[in-house]
Amino acid sequence: MTEKIIENMATIKERISNACRESGRDPSTVKLLLATKTVAAECIKIALQAGQTLIAENKVQELKEKYGILQEIPHTSHFIGHLQTNKIKDILKYGVSCLQSLDRFDLAEKLNRRLLAENKTMDVLIQVNTSDEESKFGISPDKTVELVKQVANMESLNIKGLMTIGLLSSEAEKTRRCFRLLRDIQQQLIALALPGVEMKELSMGMSGDLETAIGEGATIVRVGTAIFGQRPTPDSYYWNENK
Ligand SMILES: *Cc1c(COP(=O)(O)O)cnc(C)c1O
Repeated sequence: MTEKIIENMATIKERISNACRESGRDPSTVKLLLATKTVAAECIKIALQAGQTLIAENKVQELKEKYGILQEIPHTSHFIGHLQTNKIKDILKYGVSCLQSLDRFDLAEKLNRRLLAENKTMDVLIQVNTSDEESKFGISPDKTVELVKQVANMESLNIKGLMTIGLLSSEAEKTRRCFRLLRDIQQQLIALALPGVEMKELSMGMSGDLETAIGEGATIVRVGTAIFGQRPTPDSYYWNENK
């Protein structure tokens, strides 16, 4: 197990640097985030011990279960799943420093209020639904600027950029359109120069499409399967509202 994970990480890093080379980018501008849903804490530990520092869960329940074990090793924890407002207190309690899946006003407002009460701040990325699929979360592209403007006024939330899940397609060009759309929205927001809004991070690209995402400017790629192996549950379980 240990060897396999370490070998897979080396392969991913090579894929990242090859993709950077092809698009003339410096590999240090792309962060590797380990998407750890369904992965046992012991396996995540192997990756952290091998030098990885950035991990993210999709479900509060898993965040909670693994928190104690992973505490032993310094790392940064993001959240990339659909967050219900009644679980906001948990992501604060279990050390999440960035919510990448902020996709609605209601969630932003309640998160901001809770942070204010606890005298804390949090980094956020706005999740955009660039593939127009019912089953995925994210604000629609044409409403993104408005949400960013609203969140910009919330003093405990620091907007750092945008996040998306690209269309899962065997045709890379279709997926590329999603990533390009996210970058277009980023550029639009940069041009608006809203006070308190940073647009440095583009979190896009996963095991199957990270090269495409890096070609379109990804600064964070989120990788699960290619490092930890196939998951027992289909992604729809994590990406669907009713589960
Ligand atoms: C599971 C997941 C990933 C990683 O997907 P893989 O295909 O396993 O690399 C990335 N982002 C989100 C939001 C996820 O839920």
